[in-house]
Amino acid sequence: MTKPSKQASSPSIESTIISRAEHGVSRKSISPFALKVLYKLNDAGFDAYIVGGGVRDLLVNLVPKDFDIATNASPEQVSKVFRNSRMIGRRFRIVHVHFGREIIEVSTFRAQSSQSTKVEGNSLARSVKHLDSAHNQSGMILRDNVYGTIEEDALRRDFTVNALYYTVKGFTVHDFCHGLEDIKNQTLRIIGDPEQRYREDPVRILRAIRLVCKLNFSIEKNTETPIKTSAYLLESIPPARLFDEFIKLFFNGNSLQTFHKLISYDVFGVLFPPLKTLIPFPDAIDRIMLEGAFQSTDDRILNGKSVTPAFLLAAILWPAVRRVFQQNITAKLSPMLAMHEAGREIIEMQLNQIAIPKRFSIPMREIWEYQLRLERNNAKKAAILITKKRFRAAYDFLLLREDSGENLKGLGQWWSNFQEANPQAQIAHHNQQKPSLSKPRKRRVKSGPSTKKTIH
Ligand code: ATP
Ligand code: MG
Repeated sequence: MTKPSKQASSPSIESTIISRAEHGVSRKSISPFALKVLYKLNDAGFDAYIVGGGVRDLLVNLVPKDFDIATNASPEQVSKVFRNSRMIGRRFRIVHVHFGREIIEVSTFRAQSSQSTKVEGNSLARSVKHLDSAHNQSGMILRDNVYGTIEEDALRRDFTVNALYYTVKGFTVHDFCHGLEDIKNQTLRIIGDPEQRYREDPVRILRAIRLVCKLNFSIEKNTETPIKTSAYLLESIPPARLFDEFIKLFFNGNSLQTFHKLISYDVFGVLFPPLKTLIPFPDAIDRIMLEGAFQSTDDRILNGKSVTPAFLLAAILWPAVRRVFQQNITAKLSPMLAMHEAGREIIEMQLNQIAIPKRFSIPMREIWEYQLRLERNNAKKAAILITKKRFRAAYDFLLLREDSGENLKGLGQWWSNFQEANPQAQIAHHNQQKPSLSKPRKRRVKSGPSTKKTIH
């Protein structure tokens, strides 16, 4: 190792270079396309590094989701090097280099926005020339569009373990913020002043929680302290971005653990306003319903089965829907209308925070309304219901409710028996089951830039 650097929490521009013999990042574990991009950019005279989750995950022996590349070449220069590339993003342009289905995302080094670049009297502050950044009154970054050096690029990243840069020039890892030490100590530490970094981009709170669950790390004390008091800032994040974050939080195989952490940091209620008054779920039925839904989502992902945000969201919001439904019944609405109205009301409230696309909110309401249809369990009607598209999800939902302790008078068992006695109908279900996490579209290796667009 060379050049030990200063405290990670006080921005520094020195780096430690870790030689190939001292780190475990092997080229064999890196996408050949990502390597190709690194070599070609180097050949064209530019610096290029794999950065972020790609390096971090290899260092902790996980399989990276994707390999992002950072370079000192401008987007235009990157585009010239790769004919198979497309420039994307309006405010901050990044380049997607296409290799069949795999896309390698290449970003130009960027500096922090002016407000957060508080390192005085060094080249960092002075080198910020092309200022095109903006904050709102509470300090949130609205635009973050400033090219910079690799050092500046490292400091604007969220956590020290995400600011490690791998180069094929000597196969070294460049560590600007003591990220390697934090990896060794299994610690997630934010770069810079935690409170200010959450204010700039409150989604970093969700990223912190998601990453400690994924990596099995602990959140460093100072990084952890302002989370509870900053959680409300998530209210101002565009709902469409929060939908993307919702997917990342809960469809990665660690959703149950993530749920518990979100509750303990007072974040869950911010994400799901209809549940705010029910948290921390003193009514065990509610908590078990949610835990059951997260557990089965994790199990399905682990077993390679399809998962849908519609089912999970229907289960998460059920405690609120159930209560409004009961109120509507007390107000003498018919059961169907009571459920219909409860679903409408709760979804409307939820949409203020998380933009649930219609392709998911419609099936959610169907799952809820089916709960009433499943109650009428005479054999003739059952034989019809069982062939319906929404039956399977509604039946699984019914079992989840029963498991959570709702007294449904053995309805779940009745339907299980009925299906066993009608194997033909089982085949119909099977044919109707399709993967439904997202709209059918061309498979891409990258998860897409959608969650990044508001910070870039
Ligand atoms: P994973 O891909 O496993 O979900 P990741 O850390 O790679 O995790 P990405 O969303 O792919 O997450 O982001 C790539 C990198 O971009 C991060 O590692 C981090 O360095 C930087 N980054 C992403 N989001 C932010 C943010 N909100 N603030 C600062 N830096 C960020
Ligand atoms: Mg990534």
